Amino acid sequence: MIELRQLNKYYKVGKQRFHALKDVDLTIGDGEMVAVVGKSGAGKSTLMNIIGLVDTWDSGEYLLDGVSIRKQSDRRLARLRNEKIGFVLQDFALIEDQSVLFNVSLPLILGREKYGNIKPKALRVLEKVGLADQRNKKANQLSGGQKQRVAIARAMINEPSLILADEPTGALDSKTGAEIIELLGRQNASGTTVLIITHDRTVSESCGRVVRIADGVLD
Ligand code: ADP
Repeated sequence: MIELRQLNKYYKVGKQRFHALKDVDLTIGDGEMVAVVGKSGAGKSTLMNIIGLVDTWDSGEYLLDGVSIRKQSDRRLARLRNEKIGFVLQDFALIEDQSVLFNVSLPLILGREKYGNIKPKALRVLEKVGLADQRNKKANQLSGGQKQRVAIARAMINEPSLILADEPTGALDSKTGAEIIELLGRQNASGTTVLIITHDRTVSESCGRVVRIADGVLD
């Protein structure tokens, strides 16, 4: 599913270059559930942003489902992102004053789905995360755990082959966090590849594989 070969990423800081990812080799197979762990500043988000097709890199290769990402146009990248990848973030990134149904439907609206398909598809994923009965509430009327379920439903709606989750339990208490990881685990069991950045040991222990990163180097 994901193949990174000798990947390097630099950030410009004034006149200097900061070497954020150093000769990273990483292969993640279809259907794996992988935790990425490392100290703050190690390069986890940089790695995830590149894998998620939202950031570029300087040298090396990235193949997503066998397709070389280096050569794709911005338009094609946007399409691949929408079709293949679902994002789940620590702070949920919902539109707070809009309904649960609207938030979950957003990727379909942006992807120009046929109008008549939007509501049934949104309700189907909301059922999967146990929130169909909350569909008309505004996001700001939900608990943190419910918000993260909505974010997961939104990430799932295009049936992505890959879910990228950046500290998905970081803003939640441990019981709620465990429920969110269980939900991501269920999604993984039904075939979706899941990559989770986490500081939380109990989260990384529930993943099939742990990848460690320190100072931009993967071990
Ligand atoms: P993590 O997610 O592990 O906390 P990041 O990937 O966010 O780490 O950052 C890795 C390193 O790259 C850090 O030292 C950070 O300061 C640096 N960095 C991240 N983004 C930028 C940027 N836009 N410009 C300059 N340096 C950056």
